[in-house]
Amino acid sequence: MSKDDDQTPNTPSPHEVAKKLADFMKANFGDAVSFQTVNESMGATPDDGSPYSTEFNKKEEEDRSIFDFDLRPRDVRDHLDRFVIRQEEAKKVLSIAVCDHYNHAKFMRRLETSAPEKARELEYSKQNVIVVGPTGVGKTYLVKHIAELIGVPFVKADATKFSETGYVGADVDDLVRELVRKADGNVELAEYGIVYIDEVDKLATQGNMIGRDVSGRGVQTTLLKLMEETEVPLRNPMDIQSQMQAMMDLTRGRSGSPTKDIINTRHILFIVSGAFTGLEKIVRDRMRQGSIGFGADMRELPMDSDLFRHVETQDFIDFGFEAEFIGRLPVRVVCEHLSADDLFEIMSNSEGSLIRQYEREFEAYGIQAHFEEDALRAIAEKAEAENTGARSLMTVCERVLRNFKFELPGTAVSELKIDRELVEQPVAVLEKYREAASKIGDSKLLTELAGFRRQFAEEHGVEIAFEDSAITRLAEISAKENMSVLALCRQLFRDYQFGLKLIQKNTTQDRFKLPAEAVDDPDHYLSDLVVASYSHRRANREANAQAAAGEEPSSLAGEEGSNQDGNSDQ
Ligand code: ADP
Repeated sequence: MSKDDDQTPNTPSPHEVAKKLADFMKANFGDAVSFQTVNESMGATPDDGSPYSTEFNKKEEEDRSIFDFDLRPRDVRDHLDRFVIRQEEAKKVLSIAVCDHYNHAKFMRRLETSAPEKARELEYSKQNVIVVGPTGVGKTYLVKHIAELIGVPFVKADATKFSETGYVGADVDDLVRELVRKADGNVELAEYGIVYIDEVDKLATQGNMIGRDVSGRGVQTTLLKLMEETEVPLRNPMDIQSQMQAMMDLTRGRSGSPTKDIINTRHILFIVSGAFTGLEKIVRDRMRQGSIGFGADMRELPMDSDLFRHVETQDFIDFGFEAEFIGRLPVRVVCEHLSADDLFEIMSNSEGSLIRQYEREFEAYGIQAHFEEDALRAIAEKAEAENTGARSLMTVCERVLRNFKFELPGTAVSELKIDRELVEQPVAVLEKYREAASKIGDSKLLTELAGFRRQFAEEHGVEIAFEDSAITRLAEISAKENMSVLALCRQLFRDYQFGLKLIQKNTTQDRFKLPAEAVDDPDHYLSDLVVASYSHRRANREANAQAAAGEEPSSLAGEEGSNQDGNSDQ
C-alpha cells in the first residue's frame, strides 16, 4: 500500500466513483443524460486505454524538440518513401505543409520570448490539409509516419463518431485532450500535435449524404472552431469521472499531473480525409459545362492526380461542405487508387511490409516461410479485386495462410515455400504438406537418415543435412523403389565425399544441406557446387592479393564470398 493510500484509506477508486455516479444518473434521469468516460465516448475500440486507434504510438524520439525543427520537405519525403509506396503528390504536399507548420512553430517560439506583443499580433494561416482518396491507400500511414518523424503526438478519429454537442456521440474536444495523453501530459507539446480526422466526407450535408444533414453541419462548425483557434479545457466538463479524478488528484496532491488546464488549438495541425465518392463527378460535370478540354465522352474514372488539379473550393461546397469549413483546409491533395503492381511493390519494398510479419510469425514455430515472387503477384492480384487498397493484403494473406498456421506448427515441417500454387490452391497444397509432414515425421525414416549422416561425417569429415523437400523426395523414391532410405542414400550419394571435400578445400565449408534437386540429380547438383567453389576460391585469392597490395577488395570478390558463406550457414 502506498503512502498516499495510507492517508486516504477510504477513497474509492475512480472506477468505483464512475460506476456509482452512472447508476445514480440512470436511476434519476434515465437515458436523457448520458454518462460516459472520455474513452467510451469516442466509440473506437480501445486496447491501450486509448479511445483512438492504437496504431499510433506517441512520439518516437523523445529527445528531439519540435522547436529545433530542421527538416526540409525533401527529408520528410525521403522518410515517407521508405514506408509508403506511390502517392508521390501526397508525400510532396504533406512534406511541405508540415515543414512550413513546424518552421512556423519554431519561429513563433522564438518570437514569443523576444517580442511577445508581436507574437500575439502576427497573422498566420495554418496549413491544414484535406486528403482525398479511397480506403487503404496510405492516408493514415502517411500521417502516422510524419508524426513519428517529427516527434509530435498524433491522434486519429472518425468524423462519423462525432455529434454536435458531444452528448450523443463523441466530443470533438476529446481529440485535443487525447493529444495531451499521447504527449504524456505535456500540454505544450500537445499544442503542436497533429489531429487526423478520417471520413470527413460523411459530414457533407447534401446529395447522397441523406440523414446526416443537421448534425453534419453542426459538427463542421464545431470542428471549424477547433481548426481556427480555441481553448479546450484539459478535463471534459461533461465527463464526471474525469472531473472527480481531477478532484482526487488535487486532494491527494499527486505529482506528475499537468499544471496547465487549458489547451490552445492555434498550432495544432489538422489533417482531414475521406473517400469523397462523387466529388469526381461534380468536377467533371462542371468542366463539361465550361467545356475546358474535357469532352462529353469522358469516362467516369475515380479521382486521380490529373483530375484533382482541377478541383476547386466550389466543388467541395457543392459536395456539401460549409464554405468556412473548407476554407480552413487550404492544402488539398489526392491519394490514388493502388493497382496490383503497387500492392506487389508494397509487399516487396515497403519497410513495413506485412510479409516480414508473416515470416516472423512462422519463425516463432520454427518454420522458415519463404514468399516467392510469383506468390506476391498472386496475392496482389487477389487483393486488388477486394477493392480496399492495401488493407486487402492482410485479408488475402490471412485467408490463404490461416490453415497452414494452424496445422503446421508442431509437425515435422520446418520449411514453407509460399508460391503462386499455394496462394491459388491453399487446400490442395496444405494436403501435400500434411503428407510431407507424415513422411518427414516417420521415425524409421528419420533414424535411417540420421544413421547415414553420422556415418558419412565420421568417414569423410564433412557433414550432410537434408532440406524438408529432400526428405520428402527420399521417402517417395524409397517407397516406389521398395528400398530402405539408408540404402537409397548410400546409392545416391556414394561419390559425394570427393566433390564435397574439394569444395571444403576451396571454401572451408564443411556442412552441406541438400535440397530436393540433389536427390533428383545428385551428380549434376554436386558438379554445380564444385564449379561455384572454384570461382569462390578465385575471388578470394584476388581479394587477398588486393588486400596485400593495400587496395580495397573488388565488389565481385566480396559478393561471391558472401554468397558462399550464405550457403555454408544452411
Ligand atoms: P487509409 O488510406 O484508409 O488511411 P491506411 O493508411 O490506414 O489506409 O492503410 C492501411 C495499411 O495498409 C497501412 O497500415 C499500411 O500497412 C498499408 N498501406 C496502405 N497504403 C500503403 C502504401 N501506399 N504504401 C505502403 N503501405 C500501405
